[in-house]
Amino acid sequence: EAITVQELANRMAERGADLVKALFKMGMMVTVNQTIDQDTAELLVTEFGHNIKRVSEADVEIGIGGEEDAPETLRLRPPVVTIMGHVDHGKTSLLDAIRGAEVVAGEAGGITQHIGAYQVGLPDKSKITFLDTPGHEAFTEMRARGANVTDIVVLVVAADDGLKPQTVEAINHTKAAGVPMIVAINKIDKHEANPQKVREELLQHEIVVEDMGGDVQDVEVSALKKTNLDKLLEAIQLQAEILELKANPDRPAEATVVEAKLDKGRGPLATVLVQRGTLRVGDIFVVGAASGKVRAMIDDKGRQVKEAGPSVPVEVLGLSAVPSAGDPFSVVENEARAREVAAYRQSVLDRKRTTSAPVSLENMFASKASTIMEFPLVIKADVQGSAEAIVNAVNRISTDEIKVRVLHSGVGAITESDVTLAGASGAPIIGFNVRPNAKAREVAERTGVEFRYYDVIYHLTDWVKSAMAGELGPEM
Ligand code: GDP
Repeated sequence: EAITVQELANRMAERGADLVKALFKMGMMVTVNQTIDQDTAELLVTEFGHNIKRVSEADVEIGIGGEEDAPETLRLRPPVVTIMGHVDHGKTSLLDAIRGAEVVAGEAGGITQHIGAYQVGLPDKSKITFLDTPGHEAFTEMRARGANVTDIVVLVVAADDGLKPQTVEAINHTKAAGVPMIVAINKIDKHEANPQKVREELLQHEIVVEDMGGDVQDVEVSALKKTNLDKLLEAIQLQAEILELKANPDRPAEATVVEAKLDKGRGPLATVLVQRGTLRVGDIFVVGAASGKVRAMIDDKGRQVKEAGPSVPVEVLGLSAVPSAGDPFSVVENEARAREVAAYRQSVLDRKRTTSAPVSLENMFASKASTIMEFPLVIKADVQGSAEAIVNAVNRISTDEIKVRVLHSGVGAITESDVTLAGASGAPIIGFNVRPNAKAREVAERTGVEFRYYDVIYHLTDWVKSAMAGELGPEM
């Protein structure tokens, strides 16, 4: 049973590069794409202070998508980027500007199609894939469904406005996912722009940009005036090189749905992002719990294509039903197999619905030989002062065996975004004098995220203590 360093990193919400460093210290020279055995994986998990649990029911028990690709089959693939940031800081403008610059640069033919993701070509012929749905909600929703498609996050901060609540949310969601970040300091054309203040504010959230002696790249841009877009693309490219993103293009495709809809004329459509292998017209596939056969594929420039390799987004025609974003899309050998896999997935879905326990990152590995465990929490309070006091109080509860990890804390009602974040990491949400809104309640119902409400801090810490003791089990 092997796992790649990157996959393990994703599951632990750590950076792949940090795992590589740790392995190096143990005397192993590996890249993020290489596989390591179970024992080494456990050692690493321990090293990073995570809880080790083994999965009893592997998602791959049906036998598709489980096998690892041999290292010699791997080829470099383009990075997949998600843009996040506060509302009105320029996420959409930046996505459009990057895309527009390329269209002007003259990719032959085609009209821009909004299919949910697009690729831009760089002067050296390499490519970058951008997901067209900006923001951390879609990002974490996908992650909660087990789909980790984003390799790099570009955090947009308006230089005239600085860090805002959704900027902080984006930072926390990115950290929880263990995805590296690049900061785009936008709107530098405005004379109120103060990029240095943005860098200083980022420090308060432990984001240390290169200018301040850290290792997070930052680029000053103007989406409006199209300033420094090339620098931003270079920064992404550099980060991608460090990540050494690779996939085997010569195998049946495995992809993830990034967007889906019902088209009046063409029926159900899904934009998929190929993660490994090559998807071809005529391929038979399973997507979520439905199946189909690729009738045609359309790329982001509106052109019909015959095949799509790793990191390439294409719109697929030939589905029997509309899938959801985050659904796995796998090519199988024949229709009988497709029906079998679809039926299996449906049964898993049905089972999940009845046992609504959230799947936690930490739960991916289960064993009695656990060392330091983590107790993830999301905290929402009515005022900033309370939120800070609670974070300090719960952090003090950490012991040698179990450590509190506050994934996110903030002010205001519990939102859908808080619930998806909590769900993706198996965390309960504590509301201090605040309650969830209707949408958050509905999502929690579906995903099994637990809410706890308090108005006295020591009642809250008492609960955290006892819940942590429960996690540790009676033998501790
Ligand atoms: P989003 O909500 O993050 O997607 O932000 P938008 O892309 O919709 O941008 C919000 C507003 O900021 C719009 O009015 C844009 O025209 C403006 N804007 C975006 N980028 C820039 C920029 O670089 N400079 C200036 N001056 N305005 C910008």
